[in-house]
Amino acid sequence: MAVVLQLDPTNFKLLAQHYPSNIAVPTGGVFRHKTQNVMVTGYKSGKVMFQGVAEQAEATKWSKISNQNNHPQKQVPVKKSTHTTTSLPKNLSQLSVIGSDEVGTGSYFGPLTVVATFVAQANIPLLQSWGIADSKTLSDAEIIRLAKKIIQVLPYHVVNILPKTYNKYQQTLNANEIKARGHNLALKEVLLKITPTKPTAILIDQFTPAQTYWRYLQTTPDIVTENVFFATKAEQLHLAVAAASIIARWVELETMHTLSQQAHQLLPVGAGPNVDKVAANLINQGLNLNNFAKLHFANTKKAQSIAHHKSN
Ligand code: MG
Repeated sequence: MAVVLQLDPTNFKLLAQHYPSNIAVPTGGVFRHKTQNVMVTGYKSGKVMFQGVAEQAEATKWSKISNQNNHPQKQVPVKKSTHTTTSLPKNLSQLSVIGSDEVGTGSYFGPLTVVATFVAQANIPLLQSWGIADSKTLSDAEIIRLAKKIIQVLPYHVVNILPKTYNKYQQTLNANEIKARGHNLALKEVLLKITPTKPTAILIDQFTPAQTYWRYLQTTPDIVTENVFFATKAEQLHLAVAAASIIARWVELETMHTLSQQAHQLLPVGAGPNVDKVAANLINQGLNLNNFAKLHFANTKKAQSIAHHKSN
């Protein structure tokens, strides 16, 4: 697939300036610009074609601007199959990279926490000397100790979505859409913090296929698309993702601690039967689960049923 916009001369000029040709322009073309996730080609006819995994996201940016300028344009879907392979850069682990990861998706209680960090090439040996590893293999005490060291040296941004906010988003967005927006926001903020430095690559710990990720962001302003790569188990591919996941785990621990205090009992992680019992306790105490838990989980109904039995 590809996305084509038919633009008037004013907007066409705007895009021609934004996408200076960096590869050969085809016959009938005016400009052609290629990045990892999208190729943009402007034609003499005023049509601009977007191709690649971020085609929809990238085209949507411009259709919005074009509408604001009162130059309505048509979006014409074109039947054409283009496959963009998302092969990772060579020597990825040794490059300057922004990495992002999230925690809390599988836990009924607590936040969804997305974190991005920037690891410049020069910082890699230091982080290696600290023994930064996959956060899943570290104890809570190690997470806290390492996170406190990491935030001293790395630019980072935390998007900590508390249950109350998560539940509000969840009325119109699915869990992966919320995650996609969280990643995009965290990446955008880290890019701002390190300006004018640019990372060689941006690596997202993959939670959904790349095409789906870009589709989820269609209506989001300011989508980070340049040099974005996806990989599962990305914490093993670059320390930036490993560091991001350690900070995310730390923030999750802190938030669980605060929420447990507010609930006057220890809120467990996960979504097993012990979680149902604790949630039922909260209901019986007159506490609102909306402030503590991701309500769309099946645990809510189970907890309500347990609480109901107790009160009868
Ligand atoms: Mg992950």
